[in-house]
Amino acid sequence: MTSVKAPGSLENLRRRNRGRVLRAVQAEGATSRVDIIRTTGLSRTTVSSLVGQLLAEGLLAESTDRRDVQSASQTGRPPTRLTLEPSGGAVVGIHLRHDGIRLAVADLAGTVLSELLVDLDVDHRADAALSFVEEATTELLTANGIDAARVLGAGVAISSPVPTLPRHGPALLTTWHDIDIGETLTARLGVPVHVGNDANLGATAEHFFGAARNTRNLVYIMLAEGVGAGLYLDGRPYFGAKGVAGEFGHVVVSPGGQVCRCGNRGCLETVAGAEALAAALPTRAGGGVRDLDEVLEACLAGDPGAVRVIADAGRAVGTALAGVCTMLDPDLVVVGGRTAGAGKPLIDGITETLRRGVPPTDESAVPIVAGHLGVRAEVLGAVALAIANAPLTAVHDGLADSATS
Ligand SMILES: [Zn+2]
Repeated sequence: MTSVKAPGSLENLRRRNRGRVLRAVQAEGATSRVDIIRTTGLSRTTVSSLVGQLLAEGLLAESTDRRDVQSASQTGRPPTRLTLEPSGGAVVGIHLRHDGIRLAVADLAGTVLSELLVDLDVDHRADAALSFVEEATTELLTANGIDAARVLGAGVAISSPVPTLPRHGPALLTTWHDIDIGETLTARLGVPVHVGNDANLGATAEHFFGAARNTRNLVYIMLAEGVGAGLYLDGRPYFGAKGVAGEFGHVVVSPGGQVCRCGNRGCLETVAGAEALAAALPTRAGGGVRDLDEVLEACLAGDPGAVRVIADAGRAVGTALAGVCTMLDPDLVVVGGRTAGAGKPLIDGITETLRRGVPPTDESAVPIVAGHLGVRAEVLGAVALAIANAPLTAVHDGLADSATS
């Protein structure tokens, strides 16, 4: 057993504080000394000293943040970014979409080393999808010369709520309802696998790596096959009492409207989901059904019908979003998911009804921006989930031993 010194001893305190600083970078995604001070509540002097020590020990790494070069030129001070030492291991991010799988292998700083996108009928072929994930992960690692033993864990983004309470209602991904994805993939990949909702993980990715960095109160909207939202409140992800907060697609916007896959009538998803957008355009010559890619393509080409369909969907989103913003008073709204690729007509539509729907006394209108990470946000969020949960206990234990021996 490790000997434990008297509580309150300086050495003991320093050891615990080192653990807190490391944990702030790992789990909270703190990337600067200011972030760490804010997250841990430790003093500037203590954080500076501990970060210096962790850098010297090779547990943290510091790099110039290229994404901040522009703001640096304004402040005159080169910004730096703290991460876990990238070479400390690798993680795998997996996004199980309705119609395909995106995989990414990344280092512990979240830098993607390789990624892969495959079309697959994920909704109806659960076994095939999980087998594919196993094979493709092995291939990605081999192709990049990464020893599988260095993989510390994986994160999975799924298009379904991930309740914290067991047996909370039927999953919306109906054919997967009796499969424990985390358990199954943990067995297949041989590393700890953590599962999160795709919209929540999109929010995580934009919060850590994208449009919402340093944003404490964020509403992230994911518009794709399904419609979802992820929230950050007061700097922390918000999941709700049962872990299913953010089911934005099932906010009712048209009480007499179409019946939704959830069983209610007139949900936002029946108006702004991919299927609704495709159905709103005339069928192709020959009667072929359109899909979201065609709607987006036509919209970007300036087709008036497609632009109208996208703008109308944006207006429906903005109407529902006005209620959310009135309730939560966010700093920023980020719009992600494949449909966000439509650009201006979508953002303009959302802005129009959102501005109209919030109280007129609210003079400082919340900014609405398209996500910076595009359709990769969810897989990058899965990478962040894996990093936050990577078993660095050996590192912590090492710190404890070195501090108490
Ligand atoms: Zn619904």
